[in-house]
Amino acid sequence: MQAPPKESGRDEKSQAAEKMNDDDDDDDETRRRRRNPGLAVVVVHGGAWAIPDDLAEASMAGVKGAAVRAHELLSRGGGSALDAVEVAVKALEDDAAFDAGLRCRHSPSLALCHGSVLTEAGEVEMDALMMDGRTLRLGSVSCVQGVANPVSLARAVMEKTEHAMLTAAGAARFAEALGVARVPQRELVTEAARSEWERYRRYRHAVRALFSSERVHDTVGAVALDARGDVACATSTGGITNKMPGRVGDSPIVGCGGYADNAVGAVSTTGHGESIMKVTLARLILFHMEAGKSPDEATTLALSHMRDRVGGHGGAVVLGRDGRWGARCSTERMAWAAVAAGSLYYGLQPGEVHIEPLQ
Ligand code: ASP
Repeated sequence: MQAPPKESGRDEKSQAAEKMNDDDDDDDETRRRRRNPGLAVVVVHGGAWAIPDDLAEASMAGVKGAAVRAHELLSRGGGSALDAVEVAVKALEDDAAFDAGLRCRHSPSLALCHGSVLTEAGEVEMDALMMDGRTLRLGSVSCVQGVANPVSLARAVMEKTEHAMLTAAGAARFAEALGVARVPQRELVTEAARSEWERYRRYRHAVRALFSSERVHDTVGAVALDARGDVACATSTGGITNKMPGRVGDSPIVGCGGYADNAVGAVSTTGHGESIMKVTLARLILFHMEAGKSPDEATTLALSHMRDRVGGHGGAVVLGRDGRWGARCSTERMAWAAVAAGSLYYGLQPGEVHIEPLQ
């Protein structure tokens, strides 16, 4: 999706003068970033849960590919932080290794494909959020059906409506008005999602089995910092297996599934939605950063609070306005990847970090 067109009717001189004034307003950090687009940072996650071994490789490949693609857009394509988080999350929605968006188009093996999980009624209902740290504008959709990329619909809510959130039939009608192609339910449902649905026929059983044993699911998310010093976040999910139809999780809720503010940084979270909402996890992490904690320290504190206070587990990717970043989880695993300072970082188990130079 393109950025809104430039205002017409202004000559180049006045635009240049405006830009100079803009530059004057910028602080040292923003000027430093603008001189060096390579300082752009992207961090993505593929959900905090007990990722089974047979899904681990596809999950890692998915997050690495999405982070590299989004960073290329920032460093070479001149894209914004918003463009970068949308590209990253769309790539993960399109990858059926993850519980978001459409079934796989390019996953190596259909048998490993997961895709969005199913409600009690055996249907896919998806939630997504996007937030712009420059203006604090946000867009989100919940309980949306038949859309391949809910994250792009969330962006359209932000950019093309006067609202922040659209849900269910209203969100579907909006997608239709935009000309977004409708995807039939059967194409959104993978074999793996169907067999998990059969295993956890009852939502309560799923919650107990998946969450109390520190197992949540593979929601996807991204945070980015661009060459202008702007931050953005995006999160997208199919939710949790055998949820009640109409259940809305944390992912599309601002301050819970994500938050972005140029004054502090950006966060995308994952984990047990009902717990994340109780502690407004994304905003809590940024609150700790405002108090001087690093992204890692802030995330660890907030996740510990969520575990101790409400017994919930999850994870987050976090980015400070100065480019410091973190990826942490309190679950058994969370596939994450980051591109920063010319290197690709990635990990799966808590504390595991691999580093490769970027080509
Ligand atoms: N937070 C998501 C939800 O509860 C699940 C996840 O992160 O995997 O809908």
